[in-house]
Amino acid sequence: STRIVLASRPTGTPTPDNFRTEVVDLPGLSDGQVLLRTVYLSLDPYMRGRMSTAKSYAQHVELGDVMVGGTVGQVVESRHSGLTVGDYVLAGTGWQSHAVINGDEVRKLDPDAAPLSTALGVLGMPGFTAYSGLLKIGQPKEGETVVVAAATGPVGSAVGQIAKLKGARAVGIAGGPEKCRALIDEFGFDAAVDHRDPEFAQKLADAVPDGIDVYFENVGGHVADAVMPLLNLYARIPVCGLVAQYNGADLERRDRLPGFFSLVLVKSLTIRGFIQSEFVSEMYRDFLRDASGWVRSGELKYREDIVDGLENAPEAFIGLLEGKNFGKLLVQVAPE
Ligand code: NDP
Repeated sequence: STRIVLASRPTGTPTPDNFRTEVVDLPGLSDGQVLLRTVYLSLDPYMRGRMSTAKSYAQHVELGDVMVGGTVGQVVESRHSGLTVGDYVLAGTGWQSHAVINGDEVRKLDPDAAPLSTALGVLGMPGFTAYSGLLKIGQPKEGETVVVAAATGPVGSAVGQIAKLKGARAVGIAGGPEKCRALIDEFGFDAAVDHRDPEFAQKLADAVPDGIDVYFENVGGHVADAVMPLLNLYARIPVCGLVAQYNGADLERRDRLPGFFSLVLVKSLTIRGFIQSEFVSEMYRDFLRDASGWVRSGELKYREDIVDGLENAPEAFIGLLEGKNFGKLLVQVAPE
């Protein structure tokens, strides 16, 4: 089995030498276990947090351990009563070509119901993040304005489209004219604003003539700065991620907190951080039902950015934090 381990911890932007490729022998199977070959590996912004020992909601990856990650795999050998050779499963086996894992820790996928890759994107963790964070915390109402950044990514694109399904106006923020065009033409947002535009703050203001009722926070940084003065009374802010700050020391920044709190007070804002896993037991079934239906009917579109070969995972991951991906970033580790 080929695997990519964490070789060293990054300071700032990760570099290729933070990763190391190894070839190892896999153990034989015990009762209840399966051998999987990885087909797709999901690359996600949260992995930057796992590379660091800074305090977080989840345990960091130890040096020398395989990088974590969601995967779609196929059963190659089975000693689990519920799984047979050839089955496709959703697993969390990380950055490796093969893995031995307890069969109870995977979920069987129906390859005829939806493309297998969607289990890591629109019909998986990122799609659920959008669905749960927007509906539970954002609670968009008919005619309200919802703003989201990283809007062509798997979370943001679903946020905008679900907001529209609920009758709200969706304004997307993305990096570059090509992504902004896709927001309108492909995903059906009402307006798109390029955060790299020197006049970004003014253009965002122009795009939200009635102010902002829901700001789904994916990025932080200069985008959050531009959004704050545009928030309406009683605006809701699901704080989902701060990808603009993951590579820097910004996450620790507290200097403008008093000014921010006065905004929270005078605008009666609701700000609520969340990690999607907290809503799984309550909402995952509803999500799968709704999102599968919307994908089938064409109301929920998704875009994938598939990189070929496990060896290209580090470079693709580094690019994800800089906006080089265009859609849900996946590595095709082996053919289906
Ligand atoms: P994306 O595929 O959207 O990738 C991240 C995107 O962030 C980049 O493509 C880039 O898009 C944008 N970005 C990067 N740097 C900046 C910057 N400085 N300013 C503005 N935008 C920037 O990722 P996901 O859809 O997978 O994730 C989106 C967010 O959701 C992340 O913050 C992630 O951590 C969070 N998340 C949170 C979860 C939770 O449970 N709370 C679960 C899953 C994801 P562009 O080129 O448009 O700038």
